[in-house]
Amino acid sequence: MKITLLPGDGIGPEIVAAAVDVLNATAKKFNFEIEYDEQLIGGAAIDGTGVPYPEATAVSAKAADAVLLGAVGGPKWDDVDPTLRPEKGLLQIRKDLGLYCNLRPMSVSKYTAHLSPLKSERAEGTDMLIVRELTGGIYFGEHNEAKEINGVETASDIELYTRPEVERIARFAFESARKRGKKVTSVDKANVLASSRMWRRIVTEMQANEYPDVELNHYYVDNCAMQFVLGPRQFDVVLTNNIFGDILSDEASVIAGSIGLLPSASLGDGTGLYEPIHGSAPDIAGQGIANPLGTIYSVAMMLRYSLGKDEAAAAVEAAVEKVLDEGYRTPDLYAEGLKRVSTSEMGKLVADAI
Ligand code: NAD
Repeated sequence: MKITLLPGDGIGPEIVAAAVDVLNATAKKFNFEIEYDEQLIGGAAIDGTGVPYPEATAVSAKAADAVLLGAVGGPKWDDVDPTLRPEKGLLQIRKDLGLYCNLRPMSVSKYTAHLSPLKSERAEGTDMLIVRELTGGIYFGEHNEAKEINGVETASDIELYTRPEVERIARFAFESARKRGKKVTSVDKANVLASSRMWRRIVTEMQANEYPDVELNHYYVDNCAMQFVLGPRQFDVVLTNNIFGDILSDEASVIAGSIGLLPSASLGDGTGLYEPIHGSAPDIAGQGIANPLGTIYSVAMMLRYSLGKDEAAAAVEAAVEKVLDEGYRTPDLYAEGLKRVSTSEMGKLVADAI
């Protein structure tokens, strides 16, 4: 297996190192070999090469089975030319690899329910997967910057989807649901938007013709935002377009209680990209206190979605559960009576548990 490592900035190198310990333990236990190629992205790449997504990184990523990324950005690069900011590196790699599908699982276990801003009894047991379309819709439609039309300053952005774009993301959601709770909630605004009416019609057709074994319901996005808070346990797979998914996935992440725990995957037809959902946390970088579990769960997703190793993925998730069950916590999750550990110690504990 060829993996490109992009530690990036801030806490990126610390959390990626911990996740690599876990991946190495997994490879040993399940008897496969990994070849790593570490490359630059973000601020580190700007410092090293002058651009946030260097050619060598692009070449390595395209040749890899998967990419594991830490995080990018930090105050050091806040004043650089906006076209060269560290975050541009992220947008460029997503575009370059054609990553049209973003997956964000979010679950609330007995170990984290008390951290949720929702009442524990409402949050505990939540286990959802948000499947977000990532390369279409209003973010990529025509942007008409503000100008005077008939004497009034006017601006617009176009929400545009094609049938193939809707079908490929919906197929991903249905297939994922088959491996989970067999339920898809499709989110739209079909009462107002033409693009949503087409979205709903295509998703409904696909369920009837190809996925009758998967339950389908539809929520308008405003109602969905409320349902996340009122009853997050009702969701299994949540299928959304680009802009609704952007907003809903951040809402869902807050319910989990700690940003340090959540992984993500971005998939296309080639190399997949795996990263925790948080940023580079410059406020805690270099102190060995960052939580590496979001990155470690991203490794589990990589094993499942890019490397075809379901059993190894489940072993990583079980190892994290075991370590949490034994009471080990990084400072962001620490409470009295538990055992406080550093970023690297957490990585080693999970690796040992595997
Ligand atoms: P952030 O996610 O980096 O940090 C928000 C807060 O959460 C901070 O208090 C931080 O200490 C804490 N935190 C984040 N990850 C943690 C972890 N693993 N363990 C413990 N605590 C953790 O968001 P921010 O502060 O708004 O942004 C910092 C930089 O990261 C900015 O330059 C921003 O542009 C960039 N950023 C990058 C990504 C990415 O690489 N995907 C995403 C978001 C922000």
